[in-house]
Amino acid sequence: MDHVGHFIDNASIDGPEDTRSPVYNPSTGAIERTVGLATPAMLDRALESSLRGAKAWSATSLSKRAEVLFSFRQLVADNADTLAEAVAIEHGKTLADAAGEVARGLENIEFATGLMTLLKGSHAGEVSTGIDVRAERYPVGIVAGITPFNFPAMVPLWMAANALACGNAFLLKPSEKDPSASLLLANLGAEAGLPPGAFNVLHGGAEIVGSLLEDPRINAISFVGSTPVARSIFQRGTASGKRVQALGGAKNHMVVLPDAEIDGAADAAISAAYGSAGERCMAVSVVVALGDIADALVSAIASRMAALRIGPSLDPNSEMGPLVTQEHRDRVAGYIDIAASEGASVVVDGRKHLLQEGSASGFFLGPSLIDHVDASMQVYRDEIFGPVLCVVRAKTFDEAVAIVNANPYGNGVAIFTRDGGAARRFERSVEVGMVGVNVPVPVPVASFSFGGWKDSLFGDSHIYGPSGIDFYTRWKVTTSRWPDPGSSSIDLGFPQTR
Ligand code: NAD
Repeated sequence: MDHVGHFIDNASIDGPEDTRSPVYNPSTGAIERTVGLATPAMLDRALESSLRGAKAWSATSLSKRAEVLFSFRQLVADNADTLAEAVAIEHGKTLADAAGEVARGLENIEFATGLMTLLKGSHAGEVSTGIDVRAERYPVGIVAGITPFNFPAMVPLWMAANALACGNAFLLKPSEKDPSASLLLANLGAEAGLPPGAFNVLHGGAEIVGSLLEDPRINAISFVGSTPVARSIFQRGTASGKRVQALGGAKNHMVVLPDAEIDGAADAAISAAYGSAGERCMAVSVVVALGDIADALVSAIASRMAALRIGPSLDPNSEMGPLVTQEHRDRVAGYIDIAASEGASVVVDGRKHLLQEGSASGFFLGPSLIDHVDASMQVYRDEIFGPVLCVVRAKTFDEAVAIVNANPYGNGVAIFTRDGGAARRFERSVEVGMVGVNVPVPVPVASFSFGGWKDSLFGDSHIYGPSGIDFYTRWKVTTSRWPDPGSSSIDLGFPQTR
């Protein structure tokens, strides 16, 4: 059976046989391959390699680094189909969706190729008589990236592109559920010319993450995953003196005002709630329908659902694939009964959805729509992370904003309206990091940064874009004087700026 090894010093490395874990194909329910879980000895080997990689790569000129990143960009583009297929097989999202993920990952390499400009520092001459000051960005050293299962190519690229542009060694610990994309990416990095150790991959679960958090050789941690883990990573990582950014989960609302175009809003809700089977941190999981529009909107959404084609990820006819594991599928399905028992109305029960051919044994669940949900219900409070869309009805604009703001998460939010003034008021009053105006999944392009508020992000740095450059560098400020011979004197006073 195919096996996914670690990647250290630009070579794939298998660990001991007894450390292997199964990787499923959610479309078939079968074990597709195995992945090696890192032992402490393997971690040590990876980090010694990362130390060497950081030394060599940080000493590489900016123009050479840019050249390697341009080549990396081209190789990822050339291998986009292979990457997308690996993602579709192991994650279960459709091939078209996986190709979109790779394209959004590529954007980040394109941004990072501008490193000659991005890493420019600043200079002020003659700040005091004969004195100049220069501020320069330096790499932080070894950056560990810990990534979730739901974007196995894009999220590693959010981190790797900028961490490498800044001259760091990047050590990736991807999700053990779909590890192949990260190995492919690291191989392409090596082919592009990264020195050994600059981009290593170590597989494993919670145990190896615990060791990463404590190892003093690691200087910074970028984490993306669920909120409980993000909170704990932030606390443990910062307690051991590391720079940490930890992005967590979400419950994203789409507020639909009474003046919105119903068909457009229903199409957007379907796309954003059920794309990737709802396994996106920016998926819409709650529609807040305002006033009179609610009944018509619910029926417009429901009427579109039966036509959705649910089937194997590699079947070009499938619009939505399976969930990532049987356990996760069953957990998500359980929310349909929970919702009914809490008094919400199950308008569409995804367990009854007619599946495409070839879906008999996979981890499939059709889309569900739950109406008359309120904020006290578990189906509203929990991040379900599956194809379950809740509808909350609100009477006024202020009530809709209050619902969004009372939610502990603050990742993404969208408003659908034709009223620019209302949209602007909404944008300015919601306590959420990323806002869409008639855009249901407002993931910022790579030249901006991505990050939620409240329980969706721990730490003060958003990820990728300009915030990524800040996070992966530290400043050094040099104050210099070049005195003429014989012009010095002793002065015990505190240096002053005149
Ligand atoms: P997860 O938190 O279970 O796992 C994320 C990573 O942490 C994986 O590499 C995993 O191996 C590791 N991990 C898991 N449990 C751990 C523990 N107890 N201690 C240390 N490490 C641990 O998340 P997931 O299920 O892989 O991904 C889905 C979650 O990620 C959702 O909550 C989703 O909203 C979130 N997510 C957030 C963003 C964002 O940008 N905010 C993006 C994508 C996904």
